[in-house]
Amino acid sequence: MSDGPTRVLILGGGFGGLFCARRLGGADVEVTLLDRAACHVFQPLLYQCATGTLSIGQISRSLREELAPHRNVTTLLGQACDLDPEARRLTARRPDDTTFTLDYDVLVIAVGMRQAYFGHEEFAQWAPGMKTLDDALSIRRRLYGAFEMAETLPPGPDRDAWLTFAVTGGGPTGVELAGQIREMATRALANEFHSINPEDARVILFDGGTCVLKSFAPDLTHKATDILTRLGVEQRMGVHVTDVRPDGITVTPKSGGAAETYAARTVLWTAGVEAVPFARHAAEVLGANTDGAGRIAVEADLTVPGHPEVFVIGDLVGRDHLPGVAENAMQGGLHVAACVRRDLAGKPRKPYRYRDLGSAAYISRGHALLQAGPVKLSGVLGWIAWGVIHIAFLTGVQNRASTVTSWLATIARANRTDRTFILGATTSPEHPYDWMKVTHPNMVAHGPDAEKPTD
Ligand SMILES: Cc1cc2nc3c(=O)[nH]c(=O)nc-3n(C[C@H](O)[C@H](O)[C@H](O)COP(=O)(O)OP(=O)(O)OC[C@H]3O[C@@H](n4cnc5c(N)ncnc54)[C@H](O)[C@@H]3O)c2cc1C
Repeated sequence: MSDGPTRVLILGGGFGGLFCARRLGGADVEVTLLDRAACHVFQPLLYQCATGTLSIGQISRSLREELAPHRNVTTLLGQACDLDPEARRLTARRPDDTTFTLDYDVLVIAVGMRQAYFGHEEFAQWAPGMKTLDDALSIRRRLYGAFEMAETLPPGPDRDAWLTFAVTGGGPTGVELAGQIREMATRALANEFHSINPEDARVILFDGGTCVLKSFAPDLTHKATDILTRLGVEQRMGVHVTDVRPDGITVTPKSGGAAETYAARTVLWTAGVEAVPFARHAAEVLGANTDGAGRIAVEADLTVPGHPEVFVIGDLVGRDHLPGVAENAMQGGLHVAACVRRDLAGKPRKPYRYRDLGSAAYISRGHALLQAGPVKLSGVLGWIAWGVIHIAFLTGVQNRASTVTSWLATIARANRTDRTFILGATTSPEHPYDWMKVTHPNMVAHGPDAEKPTD
């Protein structure tokens, strides 16, 4: 222990880390919050950013700004990369690859999960996941870029492939994305193109289970299936994705049978999650057990066995099948802050108790599901409840106000105000047209007049 105030080091400024830091504001401790992106992202609305309803600024907030009122809280940009539990020292990497160290008395690991490709990491370059703002902007570029590409092509299989969107994973994120792409095509884009009819866009949702949204009650799941079908989302259930390429996807029925190949220039991946690399390293050096996805086994008070000074919270917790939802991360953050305060007061820590406040999923305009204990809502009522809950938990008053305004505008008029996409990782201003080659390297010029793209 240091001679001064207890040093609490929080890794990750997601729901868990942010709620912990906020609750320790004003306590007699020195808090450092380290995050590799320096901002808090409201992940539940990432798909609205990806599909152009909201901007990245509306669903995120600078951690420095958010925590500025708390004088005992410091925020730092850096990626946790190495942990020495004996020395109680963490090494973090700056974006320029230089490193710095941080010493702690209490460590809170809240670095969350990343998209999992189940041993097929090569799929990631063709099928982005949706966990970060970069992912949302990359997906936005692919979605709007696909319609633009189709507009320049003659009718035929190439154009059809650009107008086919494959989404893997029938959980809330996959359902939300699939629904939004069809809504974009049939509402916002419907009357803007001259060559293509955006309403022809095929959206196919793939999942290994028997239906979408398996975590919801069967009657709600059936409603979701019906609404998606009416919206025009094709649901191909009971399949494993066995290949993803820049021009398509192959799936194999779990029950056996021939593989099916779909020509689709846009493939989006929401099929699973796994621990981020640092979490796996931390578990190893702390001697902690992990499950198949890398979640860390913890004691009842969320500390790592044998390390009462190290807490794990949020999606990374591997105990009692705690769900990977925002509410569990927020409650975990508040629990750790309470433990630290009890330590200061010389009182024993209490075990963590998760209160399940229910879950919600957006399907389409006017339709969302909400399940909380015996309460089950769908249709417009579910939609309103979903909206109220999301606004309540969005960080920052300004973000809440502007999000409500954007939603009302989208309801009143079909348009989406944040459709602008950036060209991506271009290396020089002279070659700004490399953006499509990064995502579709096999793309060839089409049609008799086609030329190699130039500036
Ligand atoms: C698209 C999507 C939709 C969702 N919808 C819902 C929903 O509707 N309702 C719901 O309850 N939950 C939803 N969730 C789940 C919810 O967002 C998560 O459960 C929650 O974000 C977990 O919080 P966390 O603090 O554990 O991790 P995260 O919120 O993921 O935060 C982790 C933080 O750690 C940082 N980080 C990662 N690695 C490092 C490192 N090595 N060093 C430093 N910093 C690092 C990241 O930048 C990030 O800020 C959704 C998730 C996604 C992805």
